[in-house]
Amino acid sequence: MSWDGINARNFVGGRFVDASGGETLTNVNPASGELIGSIPRSRSADVDAAVAAAKAAGQGPWGRTSAVERAALLDRVACLIESRLEAFAIVESEDQGKPVGLASRVDIPRAVANFRFFAGMVRHKEEGAHHMASALNYTVRKPVGVCALITPWNLPLYLLTWKVAPALAMGNTIVAKPSELTPRTATLLAGVLSEAGLPEGVFNLLHGLGPEVGAPMTAHKDVKLVSFTGGTATGEHVARAAAPSFKKLSLELGGKNATLVFADADLDAAIEGAARAAFANQGEICLCGSRILVERSVHDRLVAGLVARAEALRVGDPADPTTDVGALVSADHHAKVSGYVALARAEGGTIAAGGQVPELPGALQGGNFLRPTVVTGLPATCRTATEEIFGPVVTVHPFDTEAEAIELANGVRYGLASSLWTSDLKRAHRVSQALDVGMVWVNTWLLRDLRVPFGGVKDSGVGREGGKWSVEFYSEAKNVCIAL
Ligand code: NAD
Repeated sequence: MSWDGINARNFVGGRFVDASGGETLTNVNPASGELIGSIPRSRSADVDAAVAAAKAAGQGPWGRTSAVERAALLDRVACLIESRLEAFAIVESEDQGKPVGLASRVDIPRAVANFRFFAGMVRHKEEGAHHMASALNYTVRKPVGVCALITPWNLPLYLLTWKVAPALAMGNTIVAKPSELTPRTATLLAGVLSEAGLPEGVFNLLHGLGPEVGAPMTAHKDVKLVSFTGGTATGEHVARAAAPSFKKLSLELGGKNATLVFADADLDAAIEGAARAAFANQGEICLCGSRILVERSVHDRLVAGLVARAEALRVGDPADPTTDVGALVSADHHAKVSGYVALARAEGGTIAAGGQVPELPGALQGGNFLRPTVVTGLPATCRTATEEIFGPVVTVHPFDTEAEAIELANGVRYGLASSLWTSDLKRAHRVSQALDVGMVWVNTWLLRDLRVPFGGVKDSGVGREGGKWSVEFYSEAKNVCIAL
């Protein structure tokens, strides 16, 4: 790969380049606070160049490739990432702070799966026909054009490839912007796409700050589609910027997901599931269950089990394969999450587990670590229990009736996902229907089938991606009506 392994680079028109103004930002290892390398600080001139390259590439041979050719290319990309899985995992862990074991088991394999899945999807895609007495309609799906793909720092390659794979499968061209906090696996991906034979200009990558790169991307007149994953406040800016030129838009935003535990649940499984949902990836997953609503009769048992699990988690060096919980992504984010622990105390909560920075040796003392934290005794309506914290902090609230559980679960501005633990099948259906969210898991959490719709309601976003929803989003339907 034409990449030195330290510094992130832009990739424009098939070449690795610096930002046109030569400016850079620093990339810091969140587990030590040490400098890892630099990142191009791109500006609107770089956006103009990348969009122009993407537009030209769409008008070239790429625009005439067949779905079968594109599927073969995606399969090659999947194999190349898979063959370098460990290298990708190490880089992802160093940039993000997540345990390298998690990156090796989940993040990078999922990136591979995204390419394989959309290769299969486009290979087997069917198109519709509607017969009339006097005519035949058939519907084809055309590329949308230049797609702006903007991603956050929590699952960097996993979420970027969730957009890149279907966008390429449907024949589009891309300008991508990863988070400035986690730039390097996107740079590695650019090299892999090129090595797999993707024509110049089809995939372009820009690094830099949201307002300086993301904003001009979303407003650019030649960008026809915006897929954004990130915070709800940023999503508002993106929606405003994209609206005047009627771009296709998908927004995957924040969450404050409820884990509902009924007394009839298998409690050991529910505690295990609730702990995983609260603390996986340091609680930095949009789908994390950051508030647990539990039927009062099993509240104390659940809290005891959750505290035991939280305390058993090994917090420490992300590079150690036995680590369960790594570092939060940045010092700023650590300050935000710690601020919520202080707020929980101020709001009258009891810190039943965690709440403090662990003592770690050597360079790790400069890292952004926080012990998995369980808070009890707070009203379910307080700020700690309703605002997105996006860290290893979970609040636990008792309820008395199913109706109250549903009301509490729905009582936040977000509506991304829920997980529900019960052994009563009728209750599982009833409560699933009543929850105002895009996704419900029953007796499990984060079990993903790439064919199903992914997305949220309320302030958690607009639109769905996944399976045929991605195929539709990353293409335009065109109907042809032929008189017989
Ligand atoms: P963020 O909104 O700060 O940044 C996301 C991306 O947007 C980054 O690349 C950033 O540089 C860019 N950006 C910032 N300002 C911009 C602007 N004005 N115009 C265009 N782009 C801009 O989010 P984050 O802190 O990186 O990620 C955490 C958030 O992402 C959390 O709220 C989390 O819930 C959410 N998230 C949602 C999902 C989902 O699928 N719903 C998945 C993962 C993360």
